[in-house]
Amino acid sequence: MTTIFKNFIGGEWVGALSGETFANVNPADTRDIVGTFARSGVEDTRKAIDVAREAQPKWAAVPAPKRGEILFKAANILESRAEAVAREMTREEGKTLPESKGEVGRAINILRYIGGEGARLCGEAIPSERPRVFIHTVKKPVGVVGLITPWNFPIAIPAWKLAPALIAGNGVVLKPSDLAPLCALRLVEALDEAGVTKGALNLVTGPGSKVGNELVVNPAVGAISFTGSETTGSNIAIECAKRRARVQLEMGGKNPTIVLKDADIAEAVEVVANAAFFSTGQKCTATSRVIVEQPIVEAFTQALVERARKFKIGNGLETGIDLGPSVDEGQLKTVLDYVDIGRKEGASLLYGGARVSDGALAHGFFSTPAVLGNVTPTMRIAQEEIFGPVAAILPAKDLDHAVQIANGIRFGLSASICTRSLTSAFEFVNRIEAGLVMVNLPSAGVEYQVPFGGSKQSSIGMREQGSLAVDFYTEIKTVYMKY
Ligand code: NAD
Repeated sequence: MTTIFKNFIGGEWVGALSGETFANVNPADTRDIVGTFARSGVEDTRKAIDVAREAQPKWAAVPAPKRGEILFKAANILESRAEAVAREMTREEGKTLPESKGEVGRAINILRYIGGEGARLCGEAIPSERPRVFIHTVKKPVGVVGLITPWNFPIAIPAWKLAPALIAGNGVVLKPSDLAPLCALRLVEALDEAGVTKGALNLVTGPGSKVGNELVVNPAVGAISFTGSETTGSNIAIECAKRRARVQLEMGGKNPTIVLKDADIAEAVEVVANAAFFSTGQKCTATSRVIVEQPIVEAFTQALVERARKFKIGNGLETGIDLGPSVDEGQLKTVLDYVDIGRKEGASLLYGGARVSDGALAHGFFSTPAVLGNVTPTMRIAQEEIFGPVAAILPAKDLDHAVQIANGIRFGLSASICTRSLTSAFEFVNRIEAGLVMVNLPSAGVEYQVPFGGSKQSSIGMREQGSLAVDFYTEIKTVYMKY
């Protein structure tokens, strides 16, 4: 029997007012229904916003270090359930079990790290130019914040928004993606059990056009933190600008890895295969453009194709699987369509890019990792986000040319270089237009305790994660006192 999961509003688990539900389906095996969830609408969302507004002052009145202790406790609760939550993540999103375990571990780290920020919500004491005047600043919560998250990191992204929003004393309404809402719900359960004030934390599932949009347009919501596609994010920015709400957007990427001729080819292949194919390429920081210095293009390409052939494709719950499915049929179609578009544009398909449907895999959305050669910078496969296991290889004359190609794009999330030259590495770090810069490391794979975010069209607003994460969720009050 399918488990029914509900919204969490005002400290209670409640169905959508309409009574409607939707199914959360396993992309590795569509016969497996992970659960049914509330298909909420505008009224459910308004209710959650109202409740959050009412409860927020009570939550803010809990001393910040105590709020931190609640986050620590939530981390412990989640840790005690880590294995089960990881399995649910693999079932709802498709990534392999080791990847899911890693992500749950990351959510736990985030709760602990940000929990510690509760004791560090410091203002400043600043000298006044007038005698006997004392000036200081305090950090106050924004009020009610709306958090809108995608499916590709079903627990880490909700965690890296929820934790700083709560530690700052805000009331929160979280709206996860319809494709993977269960992990967000598990996180909310842990936080509720840990003792977050009833009503301060709410979860509403349902379509973005209704639940997400209501959060964006509702005047009681003071800030929106969104991670997702560029199109949705751009519309949210416009709507928030209309009512002057604070907004933070983490959107698409088309991340390059440059491989210079002095790189260790075997190591560079591992770096690229990891960044391009793991998590089925469904990471905003995944490498999708591999810019290779001309003299080693052939050797590198051959080695990457050999590496791609070794990827074991299948249900991520099974041991030894490297590559799970695309998250749904639409995403698989996008991947296969882009491989086709690339070929029509004149690129050569060197490996992969085909649906895999042998045996039980016929019930999932699997494809072989694709390597495309002879790609030129203006081709659509070199400009548009695919969000699948597709690596496009672009030859470059030298470092200057490689950086020019890498920067010749509207995105700027993550970028990597493989080289043994310190000078080339520093030139790259200085000149690359990206918020996350890696040297001899995959473009994907970031840590929780440092700032995360991109430049150009990839991100708008303040950075997430690390200690800076709290800034977006706080307002500074400047206090002048004459004594
Ligand atoms: P999406 O934009 O389709 O959906 C993201 C969220 O927005 C979902 O919860 C969705 O229901 C909601 N939404 C949809 N329409 C809305 C509307 N009109 N108003 C308000 N909310 C609405 O993105 P997705 O397909 O879930 O995620 C994949 C995208 O996310 C990729 O483009 C990827 O690059 C991006 N992403 C970026 C980062 C980053 O940090 N830069 C991280 C992960 C994913």
